[in-house]
Amino acid sequence: MERITLFADVLLPLPVSGTFTYRVPFEMNDQISPGIRVVVQFGSRKIYTALILKVHDQPPERTPKYILSILDQEPVVRPVQMNFWKWLADYYLCTAGEVMNAALPAALKLASESKIALNPAFNSDLSVLNERQVILVEALHHRKVIAVSEVSKILELQKTIPVIKSLIDLGVIVSDEELTDPYKPKLEPFLRLCPPYSEQEDLLTGLFSRLEKSARKQSDILMTLLRISGFGAGSLKEVSQKELLKQSGGGQTSLDGLIGKGILERYHRMVSRFAPEAAEKPVESIELSEVQEKTLDAIRTEFKTRDVVLLHGVTSSGKTELYIKLIQETISQGKQVLFMLPEIALTAQIINRLRKYFGARVGIYHSRFNHHERVEVWHSVLHQGPETRPGEQRYDIVLGARSALFLPFSNLGLVIVDEEHDSSFKQYDPAPRYHGRDAALYLARLHGAKALLGSATPSVESYFNALSGKYALVELTERYGKLELPAVQVINLKEAQRIGMMKSHFSTVLLEEIEATLSRKEQVIIFQNRRGFSLRLECDLCHWMPACKFCDVTLVYHKKINQLRCHYCGYVSKIPEQCPDCHGTNIRMRGFGTEKVEEELGVIFPDAVISRMDLDTTRSKNSHQKIIEDFQEGKVDILVGTQMVTKGLDFDHVSLVCILNADNMLNYPDFRSAERAYQLMAQVSGRSGRKGKQGKVVIQSYNPEHMIIRDVVNHNYLAMFRQQIAERQKFRYPPYYRLIQIKLKHRDADALNRAADELAMMLRQQFGKRVLGPEFPMVSRIMNYYIKNILLKIEREPSLVMMKEKLMTILVEFQKRPAARSVRIIPDVDPQ
Ligand SMILES: [Zn+2]
Ligand SMILES: [Zn+2]
Repeated sequence: MERITLFADVLLPLPVSGTFTYRVPFEMNDQISPGIRVVVQFGSRKIYTALILKVHDQPPERTPKYILSILDQEPVVRPVQMNFWKWLADYYLCTAGEVMNAALPAALKLASESKIALNPAFNSDLSVLNERQVILVEALHHRKVIAVSEVSKILELQKTIPVIKSLIDLGVIVSDEELTDPYKPKLEPFLRLCPPYSEQEDLLTGLFSRLEKSARKQSDILMTLLRISGFGAGSLKEVSQKELLKQSGGGQTSLDGLIGKGILERYHRMVSRFAPEAAEKPVESIELSEVQEKTLDAIRTEFKTRDVVLLHGVTSSGKTELYIKLIQETISQGKQVLFMLPEIALTAQIINRLRKYFGARVGIYHSRFNHHERVEVWHSVLHQGPETRPGEQRYDIVLGARSALFLPFSNLGLVIVDEEHDSSFKQYDPAPRYHGRDAALYLARLHGAKALLGSATPSVESYFNALSGKYALVELTERYGKLELPAVQVINLKEAQRIGMMKSHFSTVLLEEIEATLSRKEQVIIFQNRRGFSLRLECDLCHWMPACKFCDVTLVYHKKINQLRCHYCGYVSKIPEQCPDCHGTNIRMRGFGTEKVEEELGVIFPDAVISRMDLDTTRSKNSHQKIIEDFQEGKVDILVGTQMVTKGLDFDHVSLVCILNADNMLNYPDFRSAERAYQLMAQVSGRSGRKGKQGKVVIQSYNPEHMIIRDVVNHNYLAMFRQQIAERQKFRYPPYYRLIQIKLKHRDADALNRAADELAMMLRQQFGKRVLGPEFPMVSRIMNYYIKNILLKIEREPSLVMMKEKLMTILVEFQKRPAARSVRIIPDVDPQ
């Protein structure tokens, strides 16, 4: 047979533009296809996992290198995903390699720099390993951590990644990303027949007749094992100890007896950590209220002709029940559902509710998961549909944060973006700097799926799109159970201070309300916005404040560790004994962070149990959930927190919500600050009042007449929207104009200024008055890099695509100039 010389265009997970062509070794001709991962050398000596985009027979101009090895037998990335990646790269002005890097879980893209180590939790039998695998495992016993690039020396082998991959798949080793968050595989005991019984069926008859007489219970267990495993019918199903004992009704002692006699053996196997208990329960039906039913009908009707629906439902209106109905309808047509949330760590409640209805069909995917968990969901989604393998976990509903967009969906029918207004949908660093909601809408379009955006406080952009007809709008204005919206009272802090009605940062009215709530055995949420309001030190004499060495910000005081910490780079410093400027020794605390709130409330209400939820108390993996559960179960009386307490939580006994200072949200210099302040206050207020009882909200402010506060008091979203949209139009902001921010970074301030000025000039020649800046941002130095921003405001017409092309041409041109040397240029499309 004639051998064809084939070439493959591959994508590398690197910020380099374009694809690279490699020669396919003849023996791989049959195994190669788009979507399969291969190992290639790139640069002088480095190896990477690359993804094949195209296979062809056109030799490139320069002699290509050979593909080193193939990692997959079938594609792990689908054509529709590749289209999605391409769109992301084009829209958000980054390389397809950067998108690939964000899209694939770490375990699917090993490279020379990746480091591997033994999985500390793996203790199973190594006898199943082949010689090469054993050599590597032994090397890891001695050296602890080894870079992938070193493995070839150890194995005396060029093509090492397949060996590494096989060990990762077996759970024997882990990649370095896991070392900071050690993965504990969930091991479960399984049982199987020992030889010779497993090999010679005729021996079993004799065995049974012996057991029948002496050990009836053991005989039952053995019979059950044969039945469950399908013994004698070819391929055997594995039998877990749990299932065996449950189905046979036998006890541990009888089972141990069988093991002791050498009839059964126990072995351990990794099991899916996603198989929930609820999987066995039947699907519960949901009773919808009349209003919910009407709303659901309206959504269904809109979906007949429209692809995107914005569901504007006030807090506690029961949006989740509607989602569940729509999910049910979608999966019953054999289609997949993606349910996106801004911060999945905070949404155990929704996870539990979905699991209650859909059991093990719900997969969860987000970046806090370690790579084993992520790869497991990835493969499950990949093997959906007609090619679902027998016995494989089937996730046709995926609940996830924005990274779930990258899963290999084949047949999406519905995409739900809950809390669509939330700014955490935006990815900041690294590229692609995409907006999860906007990208989700495009993904839905690629699949011909319907998209539902849900919020009690929609983003101004989405509501504008709904009013202007781009999306359909469905409104749900009644709270579930006809619960009234909370009564909001505003305290004028200026006045309270004047007449001496303040205790520290609490007005006496607010303290009285807390007191009354606690005496009724009800719960309180206290919201303190983090921004610019945490504890800082200041010299009494000269007002010197300790600042970070590497960033242009003051350090924040943390009581627990009794140190100062930079919230941008993590720099930690001791508390100075005297002021370095004036040598004064009176250094005092300024500001009022959540930790301080918690402490002072503890003094005022010594009998109350107070808990705090902010970035500092929720660093470890399940800490959010613990805090929320304790509060839910009534173990805590007062919950003090930052933005986190506003997100997606429903509590049954909260009747008072306090917003300690509304002004620091409103005074933030950003065109979205008024909208954000409204959203935060309305969302946190919505936590108050449940079970037929109207809740109460107290807002403290120096500016109680502020329009946004008035809108919160009146629960008037529309008024907020109208005022904001008028301002957006007047000052040329989204949704009327598109923003592209170009961030420049350099270690040297002068060089940065020169570069920024030159780039701004080049941009003005093309874009004229659409260019603003360069300007230093609020924090103008982070980790020793100075930062300057240039902002482009682009009208919706003419074509944005054309404008972006022109912009990229200028950026490429600029990078050739001497002024651009060592400058990092970071375009951010639709910055938040
Ligand atoms: Zn001083
Ligand atoms: Zn810093």
